[in-house]
Amino acid sequence: MVADARPHVGRFAPSPTGPLHRGSLVAALASWLDARAAGGRWLLRIEDVDEPRCSREAADTILRQLDALGLHWDGEVVWQSRRTALYRAALDRLIANGAAYGCACTRRDLESQPLASDGARRYPGTCRDRSGVTPRAWRLRVPAGEVAFDDRVLGRIAVDVAADAGDFVLWRADGYCAYQLAVVVDDADQGVTHVVRGADLLTSTPRQILVQRALGLPQPDYAHVPLVLDAHGEKLSKQTRAPALEPSDALADLAEALTFLRHSPPADALAAGRDALLAWAVANWRPQRLAAK
Ligand code: GLU
Repeated sequence: MVADARPHVGRFAPSPTGPLHRGSLVAALASWLDARAAGGRWLLRIEDVDEPRCSREAADTILRQLDALGLHWDGEVVWQSRRTALYRAALDRLIANGAAYGCACTRRDLESQPLASDGARRYPGTCRDRSGVTPRAWRLRVPAGEVAFDDRVLGRIAVDVAADAGDFVLWRADGYCAYQLAVVVDDADQGVTHVVRGADLLTSTPRQILVQRALGLPQPDYAHVPLVLDAHGEKLSKQTRAPALEPSDALADLAEALTFLRHSPPADALAAGRDALLAWAVANWRPQRLAAK
């Protein structure tokens, strides 16, 4: 086997729709530990591409929270809202090579379609081979068959994206680049080799792999970590009003997140303070412990 010569580059990519909570800390910490344990870089990308749902205030809070947690990033923060030209160029390449097509369907046209795994409507391909449409949105021409990858936590994952989502949106009718395209362009542009994120994004990964293939971009390694659930079994989120992390609770929040990630810290690492706790966690990071969760 040939060792992977690429330097390890991880990233945390929060959407600034609210402050970090216990759930987002788990994703941030897992990706930070994974990068630091490999001696790699850890990048921070603020995913404010969906401008109407994001705020500068929430982004500033996230930066302050990460700082208080001791999760320091390498290099400059990347802001998706400043990278529209890059995304547009990628879309133009996909249009030029026939991988993307314009879609004139409205939400109304699709309301009788079944739901895909991400809650959006499955696209039946109405505009796929239509000519002369005035595009509202742009979609990826999704090939038939399964897309498979080996997740470092969950093992082999295979999804038939055509059956699940159909031709999904790359560029939205409201004029913003869709999450799936922006993430793929950014991960490649930033040289990300290892994506570690919450299992809620598992259904996005096969879609992102299809976009990578269509653009001829390398495929990072993926690890999807378990989600923190609330008392009702719902994912903690801004929508379910998960409380924001307080900078003064950083040590306790890190200890709780580590325990959730099956790395319960020993008392002496905990007693030695935040940076010692993080150093212990880096030295002891074994993501495969999450596999059975
Ligand atoms: N911005 C996405 C979120 O906050 C995460 C994207 C990713 O890690 O790929 O849910």
